[in-house]
Amino acid sequence: MADVKKVIEIIDKIAVDIEEQKHFLTELDNVIGDGDHGINMARGFKAVQEVEPTFADKDIGAILRTVGMKLVSTVGGSAGPLYGTAFMQAGAFMKGKTEADIHDFSGILEKMIAGVQKRGKAVQGEKTMLDSMFPAKEALDAALAAGEDGKAALAAAVKAAEEGIEYTKTIIATKGRASYLGERSLGHQDPGATSFTLMLKDVADLA
Ligand code: ADP
Ligand code: MG
Repeated sequence: MADVKKVIEIIDKIAVDIEEQKHFLTELDNVIGDGDHGINMARGFKAVQEVEPTFADKDIGAILRTVGMKLVSTVGGSAGPLYGTAFMQAGAFMKGKTEADIHDFSGILEKMIAGVQKRGKAVQGEKTMLDSMFPAKEALDAALAAGEDGKAALAAAVKAAEEGIEYTKTIIATKGRASYLGERSLGHQDPGATSFTLMLKDVADLA
């Protein structure tokens, strides 16, 4: 599915897309948060891009760990520690590996979810990034169990993550800043679920 070169390509594409979508992500956060999600994420991935030249000598685990550390130190807000921990946990899982197959990617998603939950103490249904992450992982595993290939499994994961975004419109936020709004958070999609889905799409497109 992906060697070191491919992983670097995917991370760079994520950085480009986050920068491109930063106003959209920030607009979403404007409605139910404090309007900084896109700006925060773009700052973080710009810092990641700056250290990309060091990635060629690293294994996939070290690359993901470095991404996580950069996000923690530069993104700020909730998303910095959450995504930062997610990438660092994924990095620990991939330690020493220079190839990742689709089953490794399922493991990466599992570790990312565990990292987000460890940091943020949220569960599914609280209108957070987890509402796209959990369904994506479940759909990926279900597709693989049904004998689908990696490409099809990733497509199923993206579809489930997008449905997760739609689902966040139907629920009230009970974690993060959006929870201050209570019922007024209804009808609006979660910025974190949206940024996660954007990243997952890049994996599906390029891997
Ligand atoms: P902040 O809310 O501190 O301004 P951001 O705007 O960067 O941080 O990120 C907001 C996103 O973070 C939300 O859309 C949501 O997906 C995610 N989030 C917030 N709190 C949690 C949590 N406890 N667990 C998981 N995700 C969370
Ligand atoms: Mg915010």
